[in-house]
Amino acid sequence: MSLAPKILVADDDQALSRTLSWILKDNGYDVVTVPGGEGVMEQLMADPFDLLLLDIMMPKVDGLQLLEQVKAEPVLADLPVLMISSMQPEEATVKSLGLGASDFIAKPFRVRELLARVKAHLRVGRELNQARAEAHSRTEMVDILQEVTASLKPDEIYQILVRRVARGLRISKCSIIIANSGDEVGTVVAANENPMLSNLQVELKRYPEISKAIQSGEMVHVRDVLTDPLYEDIRLEWEAEGVMVPTRSVIAIPFKLRDTPTGVFFLRTTAEAAPLNEQDTRFASQVIQAAVAALEKAYDLETAVMGQEQMRRLAETDPLTEAFNRRALVEKLAQEMDRAQRYDTILACLMIDIDNFKKVNDTYGHLIGDRILRQMANLLRREQRAVDIVARYGGEEFVILLPETGVTGARIFAERILRRVSGYEFGEPGHPVHMTTSIGVATYPDERIDDGDGMLRLADENLYKAKNDGRNRFRD
Ligand code: GH3
Ligand code: MG
Ligand code: MG
Repeated sequence: MSLAPKILVADDDQALSRTLSWILKDNGYDVVTVPGGEGVMEQLMADPFDLLLLDIMMPKVDGLQLLEQVKAEPVLADLPVLMISSMQPEEATVKSLGLGASDFIAKPFRVRELLARVKAHLRVGRELNQARAEAHSRTEMVDILQEVTASLKPDEIYQILVRRVARGLRISKCSIIIANSGDEVGTVVAANENPMLSNLQVELKRYPEISKAIQSGEMVHVRDVLTDPLYEDIRLEWEAEGVMVPTRSVIAIPFKLRDTPTGVFFLRTTAEAAPLNEQDTRFASQVIQAAVAALEKAYDLETAVMGQEQMRRLAETDPLTEAFNRRALVEKLAQEMDRAQRYDTILACLMIDIDNFKKVNDTYGHLIGDRILRQMANLLRREQRAVDIVARYGGEEFVILLPETGVTGARIFAERILRRVSGYEFGEPGHPVHMTTSIGVATYPDERIDDGDGMLRLADENLYKAKNDGRNRFRD
């Protein structure tokens, strides 16, 4: 790609057009001419130009109207336009400058003057573009950071980053690959072109820019993969496989997170798009630097949240049976009682005690006793609904809370437990142990119950009755 400034000349005067073109080319500019001014807009939209030289008076197209059209087009708003005319300077100048032209040159003009003005306006245009691009990047940055820091999960951050960087650089292919130095395989954790994609494995030897970025810890910027020496080997492979690689320019920016693997930000453009330039690399690496801080925070938070969650679970779980422990039961019972009272709903509580468990321990030993307790907890958990709570209340006693359940429902449930337990083969395979339970049932509302303690007391009294009445039964 030529780096010479590109100028579009629109003038109906063929001789002047040719002369202008020749002078400008001679001075190192890249020139395209549009005789008569027709198709100027199409040209400007199809190709990026750095300057437009526009004749005001053309037979088919009004230069001033064209100027208005150009300035109304957002992507062309910053394009410097030099008006050329044989009109009375005063009148033309006022009109064209009012419409957004950068300058006015009267015919006939001196070559030196023309070149000086072209040069000046190209510089102004470049500076303006640069300033705008940087302002644009900064706005993007702030947006990205706000969005990033507001999210907590690393996966979400990856997704947001690829989306925002792609949008910020107006490129369609942006992905994040996680890999460590020396790895043969990397994991694509997010890709802008495929939002559904996650954790795709890629062979790193097919991606020399990613491998190099990971190994060197430095950004790799390739303007053209078809000529860059980095791709020498892989190009041969592409050729051998008949692969047409659409990628043209590439930026691979490595980043490192504390205590977590290294990753690479991978940006690609195809041949149709403008190659990625220095400004793009600056923008991308700025965003990534900021994002890394956010990612580290997110990882810390995730670990912290996980720690809290684990602690909470540990604190409320009975280690032997993995049912809720007594403390958790008391807490949950208070919540359920509160809800039942407040919303006038019903709640049942079953206290389940294994019959003659002492004998089991004495006969088979404590280890088998423990095993049976675990089996009992599993059996009870299988009977519960999603909303029910199964807790180990004490040694061989369990409590089940049944929200939205009244006397009838509790009785049916208790009968079912008695049946399931008595029909179950506890103990080790091949050495079945048969067990029974006794159950005390309490249901709220009941005039004897006004809090969780009252509920447990009533269930315990009914359990005592069930034991006294011969075991393997429930009382309510
Ligand atoms: P009842 O039918 O009257 O309930 O008789 P029981 O033997 O089940 O009742 P008791 O309260 O006399 O004995 C309970 C036994 O449960 C005592 C203890 O050895 C046993 N036990 C309590 N906790 C555990 C435990 O964690 N593991 C084992 N293996 N046994 C336990
Ligand atoms: Mg017992
Ligand atoms: Mg007991």
